[in-house]
Amino acid sequence: MQRKKRTPRDDAARRRRRSAVRVDRVRVASFQRRLLAWYARHGRDLPWRRTRDPYAILVSEIMLQQTQVRRVLEYYPRFLARYPTVADLAVASTPAVRESWHGIGYYRRAANLRRAAQHIAERHGGRFPADVAALRQLPGVGRYTAGAVASFAFGQDAPILDTNAARVLARVFGPGRRRGRTARLWALAEATLPAGRAYEFNQAIMDLGALICRARKPTCPVCPVRRTCRAFERAAARQR
Ligand code: SF4
Repeated sequence: MQRKKRTPRDDAARRRRRSAVRVDRVRVASFQRRLLAWYARHGRDLPWRRTRDPYAILVSEIMLQQTQVRRVLEYYPRFLARYPTVADLAVASTPAVRESWHGIGYYRRAANLRRAAQHIAERHGGRFPADVAALRQLPGVGRYTAGAVASFAFGQDAPILDTNAARVLARVFGPGRRRGRTARLWALAEATLPAGRAYEFNQAIMDLGALICRARKPTCPVCPVRRTCRAFERAAARQR
């Protein structure tokens, strides 16, 4: 019998099946509740969390892509003082933007930021797009950054997956197979997002990864989600 030729649609369906995640609703609800309660008391107070301005949030997200929080804290207010709005950045010259970015490194990020500002001015009449699909059309904006701007500036239920969030989700819900891991983690980020709470939840999961569930030496005994964490369960079983 002749084999049916695979179409791009078949491949997309296979990828979706591979990345599908089954989550225990009770575990997810407990994880959400504990994480949000912890964040309310211990979340970091950062300047880009004191605004809902999508432009200011995009600037912080682009700076944070390859630079530590400590250094961004120094350069972020300076850059915003020089270019307070997306319109100011859109008309800035390349040498001026390069000079403002001096010291942060990876200048390509600044060039993309300026091109994104121009894109917003030209294609959106200077108004920031609010949905993930339109945000992803901006130069230098990938799925994570689009989700961050959509949830932090516009309060949309958009998941995010940075290295901190990915580590927390993999440890709490199980790493799964290596193949298709990123797609499954994105599916998990989506499945665990509490409706209407994306702003706090996304900040909370990143803070947990940065402060407690660190790559090396996570401080599990004080972790607020340890009772729902597979990695913690496995480590406890090994010690019995
Ligand atoms: S219990 Fe440990 S491994 Fe699990 S999320 Fe918390 S810090 Fe990470």
